[in-house]
Amino acid sequence: MRYGVGSILNVSEQALTPDKWHDIIRQIEEAATKKTRLGIPVIYGIDSIHGANYVQGATLFPQEIGMAATWNPELMKRGSEIAAMETRAAGIPWSFSPVLDIGRQPLWPRFYETFGEDPYLAKVMGAAFVRGLEGTDVSSQDHVAASLKHYMGYSFPLSGRDRTPAWIPENYLREYFLPTFDAAVKTGAHTVMVNSAEINGIPGHVNHHILTDILRDELGFKGFVVSDWEDIKKLVTVWHVAANEKEATRMAVMAGIDMSMVPLDYSFADYLIALVKEGAVPQSRIDEAVRRILKVKFELGLFDNSMPNPALKSKIGLAESRQASLQAAHESMTLLKNSNELLPLAKNRKVLVTGPTADSLISLNNGWTYVWQGSEEALYPKDRPTIRRAIEAKAGAANVTYIPGTKITRRPGAASNSTPTDIETEVDIPAAVRAAGAADVVVLCLGEGSYTETPGDIPDLTLGEPQRKLAAAIEATGKPVVLVLVEGRPRTMDRIADNAGAVLMAYNPGNEGGQAVADVLFGDFNPCGKLPFTYPRFPNGLMTYDHKAFETERFDNAGIRPQFEFGDGLSFTSFGYKDLKLDRKTIGTSDQLSVSVTVTNTGRRAGKEVVQLYVSDLVASLSPAGKRLRRFAKVYLEPGQSRTLAFRLRPDDLSFIGANNKPVIEPGEFEVMVAGLKERFELK
Ligand code: BGC
Repeated sequence: MRYGVGSILNVSEQALTPDKWHDIIRQIEEAATKKTRLGIPVIYGIDSIHGANYVQGATLFPQEIGMAATWNPELMKRGSEIAAMETRAAGIPWSFSPVLDIGRQPLWPRFYETFGEDPYLAKVMGAAFVRGLEGTDVSSQDHVAASLKHYMGYSFPLSGRDRTPAWIPENYLREYFLPTFDAAVKTGAHTVMVNSAEINGIPGHVNHHILTDILRDELGFKGFVVSDWEDIKKLVTVWHVAANEKEATRMAVMAGIDMSMVPLDYSFADYLIALVKEGAVPQSRIDEAVRRILKVKFELGLFDNSMPNPALKSKIGLAESRQASLQAAHESMTLLKNSNELLPLAKNRKVLVTGPTADSLISLNNGWTYVWQGSEEALYPKDRPTIRRAIEAKAGAANVTYIPGTKITRRPGAASNSTPTDIETEVDIPAAVRAAGAADVVVLCLGEGSYTETPGDIPDLTLGEPQRKLAAAIEATGKPVVLVLVEGRPRTMDRIADNAGAVLMAYNPGNEGGQAVADVLFGDFNPCGKLPFTYPRFPNGLMTYDHKAFETERFDNAGIRPQFEFGDGLSFTSFGYKDLKLDRKTIGTSDQLSVSVTVTNTGRRAGKEVVQLYVSDLVASLSPAGKRLRRFAKVYLEPGQSRTLAFRLRPDDLSFIGANNKPVIEPGEFEVMVAGLKERFELK
């Protein structure tokens, strides 16, 4: 009360019931609006990362990496509409999402919170996320303000460990890491959260160039900028760019921070007032930040009514929302291998289900689920099937044997905010091997437990040894193996995938994920997900699909070819492409180019296909990417059905960020590629 605090964020230990949230928010808003001098409502913020994950009974969706694999922006929008509706129903008007960082460093423990490695796919999906959260009227009872995070370059630490240095020259920063934020600002997002790490030696929180020159002057962002967790203090304690917290406060505010996320004390306000009194921070800078924050509060309708609305509670966890989550989980499922049509499985086969992720809702959801680390088994709903349970329901319990083989637990005694990593142990590998002998097919579920941020740091991308041992022993039996990967980042795995008959990438599909996996395995859903990143074969064989041609040409024999390629994903039907056509062979720098292609379902099942259009710039003043995704479309086709799709490329689709850090369009030859088809044109 004394400080007239303007914002509070989630600091509760775990997901609360809607009633409890209403209680808390009501008390906060009553105090703010009735007991402070100006009666300004508080803006409460929370991490609704994959649904309203801190509200008990809310609908949980696949994590962003799985949403990216759907290549379906409509589905993303639907998902974030539901997240917004359920967050607001709990009385909370502000979400710390979406994550718009680009996942180009698979070791990074927040990889699964991203839309993967490609800036274009991430930009389309990110904008859809914002549209769903904010709607066309953010003050409506079904929407919340978004927070675009973590602006920018947070996801690309050299070491792969969270909050360690990134080295990103400005042209690459603009080429790869800025487009998602640019698109989301244009979509109208109200707030931005800052990169909690550093790039090129400059911590995100003092980077005036990024926070002010680029965000305000170039992108024209009008909302407010919030710091990440205690990050002004960390300028002193971690980054050592300020001698004391007062100096850190000055640096951050002058760089462009409008609000400090300082959850545990009031030092920010004390220092800031002192700085203004001394003239070290101009009053006008405070007015500016306050104006931005108040404007967002006005636009959210908090000045009209900031109290939670009891009538909204019934909107949490609706059957139709669960259905949307199942659809998202379905469409995220990415079938990466299916030798000799091992899948779909017949429902009368004897199945061994094994592996540490087979019977775990924790693995299906990962971090940001009921608690920060997603690690509290007891908080998960009892009525959602794990993969094991969903398979039993489908094939009949009598046909299914379950033997875990290995397990993933958390380091004993680890508090939820310390730095535990998962520990893997063998449970009963010999028993799993014996059971494989008696089964027709083995569903081997490998992957990870749950983690986010620093506790998720790992020293090796390779899957843990117990899992590799289990897999090798099972594969040595010669029984057909369906490998299901439930993981937030691509863990490398020796020859496990090579020796498996089928590989299904499930990512972290959320609470409907067990059902979705079983539906694909038994053919009740025809998979249509596409990998949104390059799956490495070796921990040191990291690359992205848009690498430069010479990066692989000269090293083909070095064995760095990936396990699976970006954009990969099979179906139970097949698709054929023909007639890739450009409407002209030469264009000027202000012309558009029309590209069309015909895709046909050449198999026997209806299915969805993602048509992916890539462009290569054959010669450029900075060594060009081999190819870049420029358009995509997801189409549904009945057997035998064809569709001709038309895409229009604009000049800026052909541009890149030049050596002077500005977009350039250079004349010369370009190549357009769709599936295996290629056509060239010239830009004059
Ligand atoms: C994370 C943010 C999150 C914030 C509040 C930070 O540690 O980096 O992504 O929004 O905590 O929970």
